[in-house]
Amino acid sequence: MTRARIGHGYDLHRLEPVAPQGAGRPFVLGGLRIEHDRGPVGHSDGDALLHAVTDAILGALAEPDIGQLFCDRDPQWDGADSAVFLAEAVRRMQARGLRLGNLDATVICERPKIGPVKDAMRARLAELLHADVSAINIKGKTHEKVDAVGEGRAIEVHAVALLVP
Ligand SMILES: [Zn+2]
Repeated sequence: MTRARIGHGYDLHRLEPVAPQGAGRPFVLGGLRIEHDRGPVGHSDGDALLHAVTDAILGALAEPDIGQLFCDRDPQWDGADSAVFLAEAVRRMQARGLRLGNLDATVICERPKIGPVKDAMRARLAELLHADVSAINIKGKTHEKVDAVGEGRAIEVHAVALLVP
């Protein structure tokens, strides 16, 4: 009998000035392109929210994590749209007879502000997760100007996903 399963995902990306000033890629979060002078450093597009959500689902399934499935030395994933990673987690979830019950995510960064794009982000996640938007929650927090996250040099995301039969 399939039972509900819960998983947690965490991700952090360094934020640097966008190229050519630095190594930052264009700022993408939750599948949305957001205007910002800094962007994530990463092998794929560096979408910390999609990475944390992908790991929350894979974690709930007790399957290999995102770094194991999509090696960050594989040129195939250089600059990849992270929706591809999430789609694989969703495929594995559905293959196990599960769907998303609900998702709660916390995005921690000093800038850009998450509030104005939160609803668009929830809608995009609902689409990627084949879930109703009412099942998706995103909270934005700052790091009170301290440490790398608070100084705008990194972005951090925590996500918890409940999968139900
Ligand atoms: Zn990541």
